[in-house]
Amino acid sequence: MTSLLRLLPEEMEGALAELGAPRYRADQTLRAIHAHGAATLDDLAQLPAALRGRMREAGLELAPPAVLAERRSEDGETVKALLALPGGSTVESVLMRSPRAGRAPRATVCLSTQAGCAMGCVFCATGQMGFERNLPAEDIVAQALHFRRGGERVTNAVFMGMGEPLANYAETVRAIRLLTDARAFGLAQRAVTVSTVGIPRAIDRLAAERLQVGLAISLHAPDDALRRRLVPTAGPRSVRELLDAARRYFRATGRRVSIEYALIGSVNDAPGQAAALAGLLRGGGMHVNLIPLNPTAGPFAAPSRRRVREFRRTLTEAGVNATVRIEKGADIAAACGQLRTDAEAGAASGTAAARG
Ligand code: SAH
Ligand code: SF4
Repeated sequence: MTSLLRLLPEEMEGALAELGAPRYRADQTLRAIHAHGAATLDDLAQLPAALRGRMREAGLELAPPAVLAERRSEDGETVKALLALPGGSTVESVLMRSPRAGRAPRATVCLSTQAGCAMGCVFCATGQMGFERNLPAEDIVAQALHFRRGGERVTNAVFMGMGEPLANYAETVRAIRLLTDARAFGLAQRAVTVSTVGIPRAIDRLAAERLQVGLAISLHAPDDALRRRLVPTAGPRSVRELLDAARRYFRATGRRVSIEYALIGSVNDAPGQAAALAGLLRGGGMHVNLIPLNPTAGPFAAPSRRRVREFRRTLTEAGVNATVRIEKGADIAAACGQLRTDAEAGAASGTAAARG
């Protein structure tokens, strides 16, 4: 079986041509799926029934995810969905709206690329679940389509949900191509950001794809010893190697790389650590995204407000651009990996997964 959702426009043309359909049927199919919310083969009403029959016989299929739980934040600007995908995985995806001056609000989908994650970051709920499986591209795109079918005007996508996108490289890149193809989902390449724990070889490969997508590297520490404690699978990859890979990405694509730094109380939030980070990044044109920890896993605490403020000030005073990411939708636990954990805890204690 092959999901229609994983076919790039040229492949859709090829697959339908093999079934004797003229070329325009491919665009009709793509538009029905990506613009008009067709969720099953039966929804492709523009296609002749005979062609749909041949598609079915040829093993082409189309199925939407089942929505196991969906929660909206109190301010209504964040929606988090627990989705059972056709490929068999259950993942969470989030949609966050944020205002933009003089324009319609930005609506960003936060996509998962794996069920679980093998990288084992000690503060991350997904990492603590362990690895289950890679998502195929169709199951990544299905998450964005879920929100669009719900009536959201999706403008941006970030690969910051469950899993390590560059550890599921081929399917992630296929999903990026589908999301940014004008004949498919149709986002601007610049509106897509891949967040990675940092795999230098895969970063170089991504740089060579001739895509204009943004890259964010999750650094979390200014030195190798602390980074290895927080990201146990970082192994021999040093902070220096990651920053070198970031610079190569910038040179190859012209896109600035941002550095993500989850601020953990009394672990990596000291002024000296901010100064060390500033020393590493000064003059490199990189932007730092500080994410105050959402304490979902392990014996870790959120940093104090004062520490967050000081950390940011140290960076900016050293000439390093830094912003604090406001955790959107904290009231619905919209951080990495959390809804699924909630749902499992709920199931274990016999209460329904969808609370509140
Ligand atoms: N695997 C990729 C993308 C998914 S995680 C990566 O690690 O970059 C997206 C971001 O959320 C990462 O920077 C990650 O470190 C951060 N994150 C994970 N758990 C968190 C938590 N409990 N609180 C704050 N940030 C967290
Ligand atoms: Fe995986 Fe990213 Fe979580 Fe680390 S932070 S365990 S890489 S999802």
